[in-house]
Amino acid sequence: MSLLVVGSMAFDAIETPFGKSDKIIGGAATYIAWSASNFTRPIKQLSVVGGDFPREELKILEARGVAMEGVQVKENEKSFFWSGRYHMDMNTRDTLETQLNVLGNFRPVVPDSYQDCEILMLGNLAPSIQLSVISQLKNKPKLIVMDTMNFWMETAMSDLEKLIKKVDVLMVNDSEARQLSGQYSLVSAAKAIMEMGPQYLIIKKGEHGALLFNDDKVFFAPALPLEVVFDPTGAGDTFAGGFVGHLARTKDHSFENMKSAIIVGSAMASYCVEKFGTARLKELKRTDIDNRIQQFKDLTKFDINLDTDWV
Ligand code: AMP
Repeated sequence: MSLLVVGSMAFDAIETPFGKSDKIIGGAATYIAWSASNFTRPIKQLSVVGGDFPREELKILEARGVAMEGVQVKENEKSFFWSGRYHMDMNTRDTLETQLNVLGNFRPVVPDSYQDCEILMLGNLAPSIQLSVISQLKNKPKLIVMDTMNFWMETAMSDLEKLIKKVDVLMVNDSEARQLSGQYSLVSAAKAIMEMGPQYLIIKKGEHGALLFNDDKVFFAPALPLEVVFDPTGAGDTFAGGFVGHLARTKDHSFENMKSAIIVGSAMASYCVEKFGTARLKELKRTDIDNRIQQFKDLTKFDINLDTDWV
């Protein structure tokens, strides 16, 4: 039993009001693997990189229990490249450049050793590629979690609709939830999206936390109020990695346990934004993660007595 992660492994170049990075390692599946490998191993990584992707980056992840058999290396091609610039609020960004390179003709091949995974985490990629991975699995995973973005709603809506029917947990941000559902109220949006297929919906609201919906139930997790947000790139993927990592570790996919998984994801994301790229995630120790989760507990814990008369 294991976690299968699908997504981009890439080079990014990031500009924020506080600084500018060179070409650094990024990609949705990279962040997911760095985050989830704190909680569960092995992780089966499915992606594609070019000959320019540093082998060392694959090796350090391998040393953390991330299998690379499903990562295709196209020696004579270039890795996916994305660059973005954040606005002053650090919540919104403009994509400056997307070079698909190896992702342009990516045909994922699921190795035999990746079959029978417990959880499938579909990181942000073309819905047709995400669909192709599901169709190659001989047995349906116990849980399929999927992240997507507005770009695919605009360019591949019919594939996205087919895919959404097959997933158990969908993760989107608030503007994507509104776009997907055509509803402004997030509660109405959540109802409409769950009617499209997923039993569970997570709506991420950046520095304002995340909502988890299931039937008529809803849970809210705040984001940790941070003094400095240095680079939000990958925060959503890191959140996803913590979420699925916790579920894989505890083998409990109930709504109650998903609440804890959302806190774990939020704690991991709060670290991700402290430095450029994956730099902060690479430094983390178990005690750091425990401390952050404790900070979340303290942040949300309160007591009020409703037994006595007030007036
Ligand atoms: P996030 O900040 O969580 O939305 O994720 C940012 C990461 O997603 C970056 O490291 C990019 O390399 C990757 N990314 C950006 N656009 C795409 C895309 N169209 N397909 C796959 N990965 C992407």
